[in-house]
Amino acid sequence: MSKLVPPHGGGELEPKLLGSGPNAEEERSEALKRAAEQKAVPLSSRETSDLLMLAMGAYTPLEGFMGQDDWHGSCLEMKLNDGTFWPIPITLSCDEDIAKGISSGEEVSLVDEETGQIMAVMNVVEKYIIDRKLECTEVFQTTDPAHPGVTKVMAQGKINLAGPVRVLTEGRFPRDFKSLYLRPIDTRSLFAERNWSRVAAFQTRNPMHRSHEYLAKIAIEICDGLLIHQVLGKLKKGDIPADVRANAIDALVKNYFASDTVIQAGYPIEMRYAGPREALLHALFRQNFGCTHLVVGRDHAGVGDYYGPLDAHHIFDSIDSGSLKIEPLKIDITFYCNICQGAATSRTCPHDETERLAISGTRLREMFANKEPIPTTFSRPEVIEVLRAHYEYTS
Ligand SMILES: [Zn+2]
Repeated sequence: MSKLVPPHGGGELEPKLLGSGPNAEEERSEALKRAAEQKAVPLSSRETSDLLMLAMGAYTPLEGFMGQDDWHGSCLEMKLNDGTFWPIPITLSCDEDIAKGISSGEEVSLVDEETGQIMAVMNVVEKYIIDRKLECTEVFQTTDPAHPGVTKVMAQGKINLAGPVRVLTEGRFPRDFKSLYLRPIDTRSLFAERNWSRVAAFQTRNPMHRSHEYLAKIAIEICDGLLIHQVLGKLKKGDIPADVRANAIDALVKNYFASDTVIQAGYPIEMRYAGPREALLHALFRQNFGCTHLVVGRDHAGVGDYYGPLDAHHIFDSIDSGSLKIEPLKIDITFYCNICQGAATSRTCPHDETERLAISGTRLREMFANKEPIPTTFSRPEVIEVLRAHYEYTS
């Protein structure tokens, strides 16, 4: 019997990618031919990323895009209609003129609006209108149009379509990210092979410097292993591309982590920057990947100053016990302290802030651009080397 944490909802993993076994490809290409004859509903990049999460089983136990009751419940109570914990609505919207032509019970094809590729088919069981402002107030705690998550929700089509999906392709991801693109079934089997049962996930959309290394090692001290899990979906301007980031992380792991304590993987989500609510979603799907802990640092999944630095810690205390089987590892901001002569947090270092090494992302880019030396107390030389090559190539 598996020692791994059960998937969210307590049942089996439910990947929505059509087909399994040797005939899967054939099954998908047959379905694709049929889908090409059906009415097409465009997917925004956020919707495509959610579809890919459904495809791999990361959003278990969702069957597809949410109906009105589930939308409402997840906004207001962080619960689906059947009581399952779910902190952020997963919905699909379209314009009125498209919705008008679709009848309930009809199967439609879902098309990535950026590539024109048919990604999935959906049996439309419900069409409904949402209060987008309500969603923003509940999920993002703001309706400020400058918040990137709010911008996207407010730009959605007027009608939401709901229904179960069957995904026909995972698009560019398995090809572009090969060994990084691990599905929950893959990470679970890697954990089982290593006989891990307590596994921490470390979320990142940046290369890992020494402060991140410290966070990761705290997790390894108390768990069997660590999943370094990077965001492969759309990034913000100025973010390091995924392949460079993966190489930088590889360089760190190879040189500074004990062997067989770390697995690196990526997943296709597009960040919503919903801060505390998103931290809960991040925990939920990490449970599906087989993790028992999620490292939640300062301002997890936040943007600007919309959220208090520890809001993403506190929200875990406010949910009903039993909502999730995964637990947060709440750790305050980490830094290198000159007097401690090592990495620390504000819980462990008593020294003045001026002794703490802090280099912002912007400042770091500037340092690379000006060919300034990067202190090895900030980042490991092997990591700096990978990043410097990237900046030299792109500048
Ligand atoms: Zn100190």
